[in-house]
Amino acid sequence: NSSLHELDPDVAAAVDAELHRQQSTLEMIASENFAPVAVMEAQGSVLTNKYAEGYPGRRYYGGCEHVDVVEQIAIDRIKALFGAEHANVQPHSGAQANAAAMFALLSPGDTILGLNLAHGGHLTHGMKINFSGKLYNVVAYHVDEQTNRVDMDEVERLAKEHRPKLIVAGWSAYPRQLDFAAFRRIADEVGAYLMVDMAHFAGLVAAGLHPNPVPHAHVVTTTTHKTLGGPRGGVILSTAELAKKINSAVFPGQQGGPLEHVIAAKAVSFKVAASEEFKERQQRTLEGAKILAERLVRDDVAEVGVSVLSGGTDVHLVLVDLRNSELDGQQAEDRLHEVGITVNRNAIPNDPRPPMVTSGLRIGTPALATRGFQAEDFREVADIIAEALKPGFDVEDLRGRVTALAAKHPLYPGLK
Ligand code: PLP
Repeated sequence: NSSLHELDPDVAAAVDAELHRQQSTLEMIASENFAPVAVMEAQGSVLTNKYAEGYPGRRYYGGCEHVDVVEQIAIDRIKALFGAEHANVQPHSGAQANAAAMFALLSPGDTILGLNLAHGGHLTHGMKINFSGKLYNVVAYHVDEQTNRVDMDEVERLAKEHRPKLIVAGWSAYPRQLDFAAFRRIADEVGAYLMVDMAHFAGLVAAGLHPNPVPHAHVVTTTTHKTLGGPRGGVILSTAELAKKINSAVFPGQQGGPLEHVIAAKAVSFKVAASEEFKERQQRTLEGAKILAERLVRDDVAEVGVSVLSGGTDVHLVLVDLRNSELDGQQAEDRLHEVGITVNRNAIPNDPRPPMVTSGLRIGTPALATRGFQAEDFREVADIIAEALKPGFDVEDLRGRVTALAAKHPLYPGLK
């Protein structure tokens, strides 16, 4: 019954240091967020001890009466949140949700059409050495070279030429909205399933600030920890018709026992996501990203070869284009790290630099919005980033400004 600090001071010290890092720096990795304390409490609960293979009311283990309640709450809440006919809340992660959804709809060797990784797609949408690239015949679509928006003419042309069994719409690094109705029309034309991976923008959808893919897609997958702001995990939504196929693809197809402690945390986060406070937070997330994009296309920034892909954003992230800058993605990421802002370098379409270096930065606002940042704070963050990307920047000054912003919006004040 010892506490973590008593039993394992080494791990405890690393956890404490990570809390301090999160509190004292500005988190702008677009796929990250801060889970509420109640979510972490559910995830750290005794539900971690329970085996519950199967689904509520149909388990392969005894003693599931309480985890059944929790899992059913999670299912009911997320169905209501997105207007879905069916939900499976058991996938351990976004990648496993995608693996299970593909396992339900496809056989090895079938053709899938997904967004190219270097153009903003995810590994699980057909990257060569990912399971998706190894199991399925992958055809990739791209963004248009001029507009940097998904080229729907190419999607249609490739769909007609290759007749995929599944079209995947969704992205990890793309600053615009997708046209789900157009994707569905193309899928119907060639007899393909449409799967939308809304991992990144699910929180915006939940808040009604982004089109909802659920009415258009056969299957929608998501993570629960990005804009949605919950514990790390995955979810699959589908039509009622596909419910059985999806459930048996998750268990026993891909996974054994569900993580009921994580499912409890998912349930709590879905309750939060249905609230007015959550909607207001997502509004600030979008506003922050727009402010960032506007301030990173200023003349003084453009002069050093920095620009913003597609000229702006409709979502929670901005892709900074460094192709004309002396700084590469790695150097820019390191500079921001030095002043206390955490982002990730990201390959951009037709990137001339190698994937470990890149010519892009992906900068997101969800975590700072959760922390309470308002428009004026996002203006200050944008200006700090702009200064840091210019030559001759003053590290001490910028670090001081980051510290002031972090102090203005304390994170997890009750934790230490
Ligand atoms: N799908 C998309 C679009 C993603 O961006 C990600 C994560 O980056 C995933 C799936 C995978 O999620 P996880 O890291 O939970 O496996």
